[in-house]
Amino acid sequence: MSAILKVEGLVKRFGGITATDDCWLEVAAGEIHGLIGPNGAGKTTLLSQIAGSLKPSAGAIHFDGQAITGLPIHRRVGRGIVRSFQITNLYKTWRVRDAVALAVQARSGSSFRFWQPVQSEKALTDEAAAILASLDMAALGDRITGDLSHGEQRLVEIAMALATAPRLLLLDEPMAGLGPSESERLTEQLQALKGRYSLLLVEHDMAAVFRLSDRISVLVAGKVIASGLPDAIRNDDDVKRAYLGEE
Ligand code: ATP
Repeated sequence: MSAILKVEGLVKRFGGITATDDCWLEVAAGEIHGLIGPNGAGKTTLLSQIAGSLKPSAGAIHFDGQAITGLPIHRRVGRGIVRSFQITNLYKTWRVRDAVALAVQARSGSSFRFWQPVQSEKALTDEAAAILASLDMAALGDRITGDLSHGEQRLVEIAMALATAPRLLLLDEPMAGLGPSESERLTEQLQALKGRYSLLLVEHDMAAVFRLSDRISVLVAGKVIASGLPDAIRNDDDVKRAYLGEE
């Protein structure tokens, strides 16, 4: 297995709380790696340290063989570590194709400037249209993001993340708040990404995680207590005791 991401002994303390506590994790190139664990286990805190929005108290992160522990977010994005966008009010009045075009433009990382396009407007919108088409979302291109369903907005967030040409995509509970048919559609979309990107997927929807993931790690009280193939995780006694047994 060639690891694209290595998390080595990450500790993150918030005052008296240790949110990640000597946490070790490896994501292989091209795999979907599920990260599960009970509420408050430290999953979001771990993603934030990988994305660069939180600074570890101790430990190291390697991406593609190089230490990135101290890099700011935009330099990590430049190397291909991207956390899924959240459609906030900022994007609600935008046409879907324009929101994705903005993300295409953001790919130039730290040199990104709204007023200094790196590609012509037509090239940007054409590329955005191609990304939407590759995700079977061409029909949404002319819609206004704020008018879309939750599930469709989630798909646009993922399209925007993919538009930045990530090598490692970090997804934090993409199924949250979606109905069954919307989760089904998103699961299929994520399945279609397998092998083309490396994905670290934090998710409480166990059916989706077990269906999508090549491997799964289980975080409990800030520590990874097990990592392995979905079947091995399902049958792991420590995992059952600490987590799945509670379900
Ligand atoms: P959930 O599944 O409920 O989203 P999680 O596994 O993502 O939980 P985190 O959100 O990472 O867990 O939280 C881990 C612990 O760190 C919790 O005890 C939480 O209260 C604490 N924590 C997280 N962020 C902060 C913060 N900014 N300040 C203080 N404590 C924090």
